[in-house]
Amino acid sequence: MSTIETEIVVVGGGPAGLSAALTLSRARRRIIVIDNGEPRNAPALGAHGLLGQEGISPFELLRKGREEVTSYGGQVITGRVTDARAEGNGFRVRTDAGHDVTARTVLLATGTRDNLPDIPGLAARWGKDVIHCPYCHGWEVRDQRVGVLATGPISALQALMFSQWSSDVRFFPQGLDYSVADLAKLSATGIRVDTRTITGIDTDEDHLAGVHLEDGSTFPLDALVVPTSTTARLDGLDGLGVEVSESPAGTAVAVDTAGHTSVPGVWAAGNLTQPATQVSEAAADGTRVARNINTELIFQDADRAVAETENNR
Ligand SMILES: Cc1cc2nc3c(=O)[nH]c(=O)nc-3n(C[C@H](O)[C@H](O)[C@H](O)COP(=O)(O)OP(=O)(O)OC[C@H]3O[C@@H](n4cnc5c(N)ncnc54)[C@H](O)[C@@H]3O)c2cc1C
Repeated sequence: MSTIETEIVVVGGGPAGLSAALTLSRARRRIIVIDNGEPRNAPALGAHGLLGQEGISPFELLRKGREEVTSYGGQVITGRVTDARAEGNGFRVRTDAGHDVTARTVLLATGTRDNLPDIPGLAARWGKDVIHCPYCHGWEVRDQRVGVLATGPISALQALMFSQWSSDVRFFPQGLDYSVADLAKLSATGIRVDTRTITGIDTDEDHLAGVHLEDGSTFPLDALVVPTSTTARLDGLDGLGVEVSESPAGTAVAVDTAGHTSVPGVWAAGNLTQPATQVSEAAADGTRVARNINTELIFQDADRAVAETENNR
């Protein structure tokens, strides 16, 4: 196995990683992006709310992004990072496809994983008509019969959000308790609360037809909203030892305002640090953090040059 040496290795080539890579390759940095092609929105037909690329297939967007990065000399490797750790003055990253990359700096942009409730048939409809984000899918389900399956404390407010897109919203608390104030908002805005527990998903060919309920009945729906908690995608990256923050919404890599993680030389961007953000926001975060990386490397090199000049006197 031959080692490839580079300045910056970007782990994760979704919108955040590729936007960072575009900025860094245009800044004449030697960069390698390693990506295994499983973006968070992979099950969705299109990415919405994306100016200039509205509704584009998630994979077409990334194909174009890879092309743009390589057009400026960036390298994109297809593979899953299975090991990453500090070594010498930098880092060593290995993939399941046998790549071995050493770099001065690492940018993590591996995204987040949605934790779906364990209800038969639900995962198969995820991103199609089992959805979570009103700004990604609200327009597509406008005026339709929308169910909201509660998963935690903010689920009642998620139901309220969808009332902006449809007047036919039904909230299923799934045995969870909600405050009188939240329930009053649902009632006052015409959202019905159905206390029967959802036990399964009813499909008709390739469409959601409704939900199976604990009493044996089926309730017809066109879309089911499932507010998910999320888990930072750090498989194969434990060796770096970056700090992870926890909240009721899930886990995320902790970063400062510039994008530094707790480990010097390791940065992070996109959904990995801000799980609730959309494609355009993740991409913008990648760009912002890339600029900070480039600036910091320029200043580090200037300091080193000054030190060398003084040593040589
Ligand atoms: C079902 C669904 C639909 C959505 N629809 C929309 C929408 O319409 N509009 C919108 O703006 N947003 C949408 N989103 C949100 C959108 O998916 C995220 O904002 C966006 O994907 C975040 O980009 P990212 O680059 O941070 O992470 P990701 O896009 O998830 O990219 C991370 C990349 O890192 C790679 N990776 C992870 N671990 C490793 C590893 N160990 N080795 C190598 N590669 C690795 C993954 O394969 C992936 O390609 C949707 C989300 C979901 C769940």
